[in-house]
Amino acid sequence: VPDSADAVLEGLDPEQREVATALRGPVCVLAGAGTGKTRAITHRIAYGVRAGILQPSSVLAVTFTNRAAGEMRGRLRQLGAAGVQARTFHSAALRQLQYFWPKAIGGSLPRLVDRKIQLVADAAAACRIRLDRGELRDATAEIEWSKVTQTVPADYALAAAKAGREAPRDPAEIAQLYAAYEDLKRGRGVIDFEDVLLLTVAVLQDRQDVAEQVRAQYQHFVVDEYQDVSPLQQRLLELWLGDRDDLCVVGDASQTIYSFTGATPDHLLDFRSRHPRATVVKLVRDYRSTPQVVHLANGLLAQARGRAADHRLELVSQRPAGPEPVYTEYPDEPAEAEGAARRIRELIDSGLPAAEIAVLFRTNSQSETYEQAFADAGVPYQLRGAERFFDRPEVRKAHSALRAAARFGGNDSLLDDAVDLPSQVRAVLSGEGWTPEPPAGSGAVRERWESLAALVNLAQDFAAAGAGATLSDLVAELDERAGAQHAPTVQGVTLASLHSTKGLEWDVVFLVGVAEGMMPITYAKTDEQIEEERRLLYVGVTRARERLHLSWALARSPGGRANRRPSRFLKGLRPGSGPSGGGTAAGGSGGVERGYGSGGAPTVAPRRTRRTPARCRVCGRTLTDAGEMKLMRCEDCPSDMDEGVYERLREWRAVQ
Ligand code: ATP
Ligand code: MG
Repeated sequence: VPDSADAVLEGLDPEQREVATALRGPVCVLAGAGTGKTRAITHRIAYGVRAGILQPSSVLAVTFTNRAAGEMRGRLRQLGAAGVQARTFHSAALRQLQYFWPKAIGGSLPRLVDRKIQLVADAAAACRIRLDRGELRDATAEIEWSKVTQTVPADYALAAAKAGREAPRDPAEIAQLYAAYEDLKRGRGVIDFEDVLLLTVAVLQDRQDVAEQVRAQYQHFVVDEYQDVSPLQQRLLELWLGDRDDLCVVGDASQTIYSFTGATPDHLLDFRSRHPRATVVKLVRDYRSTPQVVHLANGLLAQARGRAADHRLELVSQRPAGPEPVYTEYPDEPAEAEGAARRIRELIDSGLPAAEIAVLFRTNSQSETYEQAFADAGVPYQLRGAERFFDRPEVRKAHSALRAAARFGGNDSLLDDAVDLPSQVRAVLSGEGWTPEPPAGSGAVRERWESLAALVNLAQDFAAAGAGATLSDLVAELDERAGAQHAPTVQGVTLASLHSTKGLEWDVVFLVGVAEGMMPITYAKTDEQIEEERRLLYVGVTRARERLHLSWALARSPGGRANRRPSRFLKGLRPGSGPSGGGTAAGGSGGVERGYGSGGAPTVAPRRTRRTPARCRVCGRTLTDAGEMKLMRCEDCPSDMDEGVYERLREWRAVQ
């Protein structure tokens, strides 16, 4: 913990310091990826609290995911500023709503709908509109989009046309379905995810007393990833503020990747015109990535068009030179996955922690091939957002045992000999039947052991991060992570879709499937949609600190038609792809590598069958239906097109 407020400012560059010390009035930070936006606002809050200018409980920091919120709380604690609310829009709204509902509306807050798709299906049946599964999901996305853009059914057709939405049906039918869905939902006395924000907005708008109470509680607002705020979230923010303007927003228009869910960078880009007296700070020093990675990112942005691109900032890497990005072409997707697995195996064998590696893809359906290849190559991995770790019975039991030990630890003979935190945790867990050595064999016993081993690892990481951390600190951390459904420790290689990588970083990133049809994805058609795909690739590239591997496969499966081409976004940037657009081609060493085909690989291990039960990668539910297992997603969860919805579903399941 820094010993003074000023010490909190150490480790910030002059522009970041400007952000951190501008504690009053509107502040807007426009900056590229990896320039320390999140760091600057975290230090800003800590500085304000440590300097006695901000009351911790009067600050509301809004982040994009529960995970980001948890990380910010952790950082704030390390900086000596515990007690600040860091939440997503939804969890902040839900808390307020639960608190004010009895007084403002009466009774208790209605239950959140559990099977939303089913509700939409019922509404469709009521209107005699026949929809197949895919259409049902798309129609649901249309309803969600309408709600976050504050579009009522009567206005849907016009608004959807204006926004270039591709509805699965005649817009008039979607509007009818939307109205029926709302009626049905009301009739059943449940609310949906969007209603949480809509109702909070309504209560704050209509009830002056409630609005005053909320405004008395929160006086300073900080919003990360502001480029992806929806009109509804913006409205909520305005209501929280009232006529005040102690608001600090940070964002990067070039990372706008949720437009299809109604998010828009306009609020970020128009900030100065809405707040003429705003302090505007631009950050261009990139602290995350090597000059080679930054060069590619700049090259991608140089070819971008549209409003976001007009505001791009050229990044300047602050890091020493690293290796050039590696481009590899494979004959088919399994070969691509095996190639990545082989390289990752080598990196891990050479001493790089698996947690420092990520494989990023466009759609979740791509992950299966990688899971298989990793299982074959013995590469540990985790799917981002797929696990519901804290729901597992053994973890729940261990969690409460640790809680009890933290409370009564002093009298507990188990802990007498345990001098450091990890040993204390091991001692408590051995009381739960856990042994330091893994049990023989596989299956449920082994899985149980792994879960508890993950808790021990977490204790180790936690102790290493903060000297003097006690068992009670650890239990508080576990409580928080359980609330945020945040997996205990990142031990394996991360497998994640590009949409779920906001704000994250790894030493080594494998961007796979960088082919036409995947990036951009086939259903991206309009110029705006193509630009959003380009931004998605930019987000992926800028996750890498050191090494970046980009690859694509010419065919989907071995022996299949080799009709794929590398992504158009790499034109001029990858070696041998025509005139340089300012990319790595000119300075790059070597050309595109050729990966092995499945047949040509030195050894291809026989495919093993999956041991772990298949779970829905959105909500974590165990899957039994063959169709669902193939998709790795249960029927209730939205399709790959709706990544934003995924994240929101995870969020509300976490806050429930
Ligand atoms: P993104 O756009 O991806 O969300 P960001 O702008 O929020 O990125 P951060 O995640 O805050 O960037 O910072 C990127 C990395 O650079 C982090 O590892 C952070 O610790 C580091 N960093 C940021 N500022 C500095 C600095 N002044 N000195 C050293 N390291 C820094
Ligand atoms: Mg960030």
